[in-house]
Amino acid sequence: MDFASDNSVGASAEILAAVAAANAGAAHAYGDDDWTAKAQSRLDEIFERKTASFLVATGTAANALALAVLTPPYGAVFCHSSAHIMEDECGAPEFFTAGAKLVGIDGAAGKITPEALKAALAAFPRGLVTHVQPAVLSLSQATECGTLYTCAEIAELAAIAHAMGIAVHMDGARFANALVAQNCTAAEMSWKAGVDVLSFGATKNGALACEAVVFFNPQQAENFVYRRKRGGHTLSKGRFLGAQMAAYLEAGHWLALAAGANAHAARLAAGLAQVPGIRLVWPCVANEIFLLVPEKVDRFLRGAGAHYYDWTFTAVDRALAKPGDDAIFIRLVTSFATEPAEIAQFLAIAGAAATTSTKA
Ligand SMILES: *Cc1c(COP(=O)(O)O)cnc(C)c1O
Repeated sequence: MDFASDNSVGASAEILAAVAAANAGAAHAYGDDDWTAKAQSRLDEIFERKTASFLVATGTAANALALAVLTPPYGAVFCHSSAHIMEDECGAPEFFTAGAKLVGIDGAAGKITPEALKAALAAFPRGLVTHVQPAVLSLSQATECGTLYTCAEIAELAAIAHAMGIAVHMDGARFANALVAQNCTAAEMSWKAGVDVLSFGATKNGALACEAVVFFNPQQAENFVYRRKRGGHTLSKGRFLGAQMAAYLEAGHWLALAAGANAHAARLAAGLAQVPGIRLVWPCVANEIFLLVPEKVDRFLRGAGAHYYDWTFTAVDRALAKPGDDAIFIRLVTSFATEPAEIAQFLAIAGAAATTSTKA
């Protein structure tokens, strides 16, 4: 029973096979190969326009390199206070941008509201020499709370950002999970809503290690290749990145993988909602489930070998836990590789623990 993360599983069989197939023969190095070209043209197809896209091996590199293009060293990057770029990238965004300031915006369920964005922008007026200059809004889709922005919400936030002359970046480590959960196209959830640059994840949804930085305005990407090389993310045998991304986007494979992961999460969340004492913290709309579970249920599950992480509330969400609560705050993540048997076993143990009155 592994619900630790969607990167605790391996790669999809199709993507692995594509990497093995790309092993045959010689090819040009550093991304100047047919697999990478195919991946780039598939990205253009799914986004329904000419993009400038670049493959890297980690989401951190994608985010940090994208932001480095969009902000000067004296710029401000606005993001949710619990954003991956803020909390989980060891200062890579600050390092790659040569010191830009990340400004965290609080918001319930991992989301930035238009009001909160306006207030944050007002605190960093353009032209005030004592302050970093507003440069980028970065939105995570899906968010770090497993919630989603609708396309209309993205458009509203992007319009506020653009009106202030700042660019919009999207951290789409779980872009596919977010997309299949909503009734819209990849174009509508990105550039049509005002996203300028997207970190397009594949690793958590079935690749070995591959993410794309997608520029919807190719002129903005002119110097990207130098930044990527300087940052150590120009893979010598770049064909293996190209092979992963091309296979990921082949015949809707990426959407099928994400739909599977989301369906597993929906089934697990629905089952857990029936267990006495378990509370869903945020609605489960993609492939992450955040729960308050009685201490005993947590103990039984871990005792049975279930693997998942404890989570922490941000300031705004802390009120969700009741004072004196013995509940443990946990996160469960499903993936394309989740087995129905893992879900059944988890639900059976949680249900049994919740209804047993004796201490284990
Ligand atoms: C996992 C993740 C990333 C990328 O992480 P890497 O470990 O660097 O690949 C970026 N953003 C979010 C929201 C993530 O969950």
